[in-house]
Amino acid sequence: MAINFIPNDPRAGATAPAIRVKAKRPTRPATRSGFIYSKTSPETVSAPGTPAFLFWQAREAGIAAVMAWEASAGLHKAWQGNRKKLPLLQDAGQDLNAFYDRDSFSFFHQTVAGITFFSGASTDVVAHEVGHGLLDSIRPDFFDVNFLEVGAFHEAFGDCMAMLTALNDLETRKKLLAAAPTLRKRNFVEGTAEDLSKGIGLLIPGHNAAKPRRAFNTFKYQIPSTLPSDGGPGALINEVHSFGMIFTGCFWDLIANLFNASAQKTEAALLTAAKLAGKLLIAGAKAAVVTPRFMQSMGRAMTLADQSLHGGANHDSIRQAFGRHNILLGSNAMLAPSMALAGAFPKRATLTQATRKDLLQRLGNVRGAKLTLASANMFGTPVVQAVQTRPIELGKLHPQLKGVVALAQEPVMVGESGGRAAIMGAVPHASDTDNEVRAFVESLLAHRRIKMGKTTKGAAATGAHRNHTTHIVKTVGSQKMLQRTSFQCICHRSE
Ligand SMILES: [Zn+2]
Repeated sequence: MAINFIPNDPRAGATAPAIRVKAKRPTRPATRSGFIYSKTSPETVSAPGTPAFLFWQAREAGIAAVMAWEASAGLHKAWQGNRKKLPLLQDAGQDLNAFYDRDSFSFFHQTVAGITFFSGASTDVVAHEVGHGLLDSIRPDFFDVNFLEVGAFHEAFGDCMAMLTALNDLETRKKLLAAAPTLRKRNFVEGTAEDLSKGIGLLIPGHNAAKPRRAFNTFKYQIPSTLPSDGGPGALINEVHSFGMIFTGCFWDLIANLFNASAQKTEAALLTAAKLAGKLLIAGAKAAVVTPRFMQSMGRAMTLADQSLHGGANHDSIRQAFGRHNILLGSNAMLAPSMALAGAFPKRATLTQATRKDLLQRLGNVRGAKLTLASANMFGTPVVQAVQTRPIELGKLHPQLKGVVALAQEPVMVGESGGRAAIMGAVPHASDTDNEVRAFVESLLAHRRIKMGKTTKGAAATGAHRNHTTHIVKTVGSQKMLQRTSFQCICHRSE
């Protein structure tokens, strides 16, 4: 028995591996994370465009993505909320889209100009969505962060998982090295979702997502709110998918640096480089501190992960990869004591009364703020991670957001200096946080990502109507609050 499988994207081009007949991957063991399937078909070698092909293609791609994670980070045991299985819906109705919303990984089909596009037929797109789920399983807090760079990193992580899934495939590595021996030219691996972007270009010519996102790029970091909110196909704009290319650019350059530093430029060396980059990515994501400048925060965390796991052997490769995109790391600054606080140095997840009072004062003694504490080991340095969460008024941004707030997170690491409690790294400034949250909400408004009025969760999945929003206004207690419902993976506007 065997199935038909497209290892990359249906429109990845002539240099990519062609569709192949292969044995299906085994079902994920019950002790690890897996998928719930629907519209299943008996195992057959089926032609693209048929329901049987789509089912086996999406299933194979989903499992391949989790296995690519495991090649870098060890067994993956559960999804967010400690759930073993999530539905993988290879065809949830008519749309040119795909999403992850904690309830499912959902894919769609739509005919444009006589061509039917199936988002679940692209290994790139399936791995991207599964990537959101994998990241959500280790950092569920990212889901509710209202900073554009954190949302952009979530999108970038999906694209990184698509690239790692591709690089975990032997034929892909051989064909990639034939097409781009040093990885320093455009190729079918660093370009993702070629098929879906073609569909978007046919539906909405000139749209920003009408070209594939590219990780081999020369985009330079700038503060996202200083970028235009829209731009032509492939341009860098103030929008999460597009801005994510800053991070995927760093990640691709890291893979290239690690590979080009290896003695033999073989497919085996490429696999080693990809696994190592994936390991640093995932270890970094587990520890990264949530800040408005999150791309830098991730680079710092990856550097510290390398310091802790490999004695800093890859420091230059990481620094140079981020430097190419104008992200300067200064990783040790993250753990340098910067200000003494009142009170003795903290133990476990507690602060003395004096330290707490001093810290709250430095954070502005904001009314309605909450302080949560957790002990953490930042790559060998014990710290207490204090996070202030406070509401930010959004009324001035849109008439329908009157009385609505978004939550802002302000993390501070409290460690030890000379036996006293001390702030490690930087303290967020209240007005900076306000500006960052409002800038993110403005970007959501510009791309019509906030569902105004009543919402029915899962409406898109049932095909009842197209819903490309990622956020809703929900009443929590007596407070109207902006909340995320999903990551939508195509940035086209709902008509
Ligand atoms: Zn996405």
